[in-house]
Amino acid sequence: MRYFSTRGAGPVSLDDALRQGLADDGGLFLPERLPRFSIEDFTGCDSVQDVAAVLLEPFFSASALEAELAQVIAETFRFELPLTRIDAADGTADLLELYHGPTAAFKDVGAGFLAACLTRLEGDPDAPLTILVATSGDTGGAVAAAFDGRPGMRVVVLFPEGRVSARQEHQLTCWGDNVLSLRVSGAFDDCQALVKAALGEPGLTAHYRFSSANSINIGRLLPQSIYYAHASLKVYRERGQQPGFIIPTGNLGNALACIMAREMGLPIGPVILSTNANRTISDYFDTLEWLPRASLETLASAMDVGNPSNMERLRHLLGDAETLRERIGVLSVPDEAIREALRRDFSEFGFATCPHTATATYTWRKLDPALRGDEHWVLVATAHPAKFETVVEPLIGQTVPLPAELAEILTRPSRAVDVEPELDAFVARLREHFA
Ligand SMILES: *Cc1c(COP(=O)(O)O)cnc(C)c1O
Repeated sequence: MRYFSTRGAGPVSLDDALRQGLADDGGLFLPERLPRFSIEDFTGCDSVQDVAAVLLEPFFSASALEAELAQVIAETFRFELPLTRIDAADGTADLLELYHGPTAAFKDVGAGFLAACLTRLEGDPDAPLTILVATSGDTGGAVAAAFDGRPGMRVVVLFPEGRVSARQEHQLTCWGDNVLSLRVSGAFDDCQALVKAALGEPGLTAHYRFSSANSINIGRLLPQSIYYAHASLKVYRERGQQPGFIIPTGNLGNALACIMAREMGLPIGPVILSTNANRTISDYFDTLEWLPRASLETLASAMDVGNPSNMERLRHLLGDAETLRERIGVLSVPDEAIREALRRDFSEFGFATCPHTATATYTWRKLDPALRGDEHWVLVATAHPAKFETVVEPLIGQTVPLPAELAEILTRPSRAVDVEPELDAFVARLREHFA
């Protein structure tokens, strides 16, 4: 399989698309065509790993990793991705729980896959690859966890001092010697600027073999399609019905993986995107005008995106707004509605949801009752509520029990190195830690 940029550059191999992240022309990589599957292609495939082996095979043709696909799959899908039935006042649905990985959010899937692939392609104990990741919270923890202890690989996480929650900070700072956690006295933008400045220094980049693990890497999308394929096949086999999916959406990476699975022939019905108060996508569907803007801060902070970069991929795959709005639904959910959904979820389901997941449960309750009843809906749960306890606990009046993975991480010692948002200071910390 060959890969092209949405802006035309290419072709490159899967391996180069994984290495580069962003294409040279500033576009995003996509496979030259999506393979088509029939449901019979998955006969006998019951586990997530079985489904992954069939679905990923064409994407790995001609990759140096082709012979190691089974190991890559085994390393990526090490935790459960279960469907849980919910019974609520408005009917029944399934919750697709994507939060059983090491840092309790769906980003563990993409980060784990990228780590399994990049370690095999680039891991070199004599000259380690150094992954730089600026984070406002969730991504950095998932990347650090995925590369923790991997031979020939290093990670430098940069996060803004005082702008991440205590639990998030712990998830960014509790790893082994190959992970350097830098607490930057500045904002997220300063962290991003530092990464950019470092990548712009050829001498430094060559010495440390810098690379970046950004959210637009094709290595995030491919494994995310697997849980949609697996869940849709399960529902289809049990009910004879193609489930609809309601997906909490920020940068559109998770939802795009679902839409790709549908394009590949998996039994997926309607797809609805739930955003927070950031209305760039919903306004685009309403007005047909694409107007990216600065992001607003909301309770669903991992979805605070004003310029969802994966829209470029979605348009390339399906077409412009007029086509998109016929094929995909969208609802923007303001903070007050997130609060209402968090309270109702807890009282009706008997367990808490996270603020991102609550945009999906809110959207589901808002559906036309006939549509809600006729379709079988899968609501995507993107993170565990214990990660966002400062939002959730006051609303439900209880503490949220910690899942085992998160509890284990929180017992580890945490260590961060403070740094000023300046390149010289950054380089000095790097030298001290990695020599
Ligand atoms: C990243 C994230 C999202 C948004 O996913 P996108 O792929 O950016 O649309 C939603 N929920 C949680 C918990 C996240 O960490």
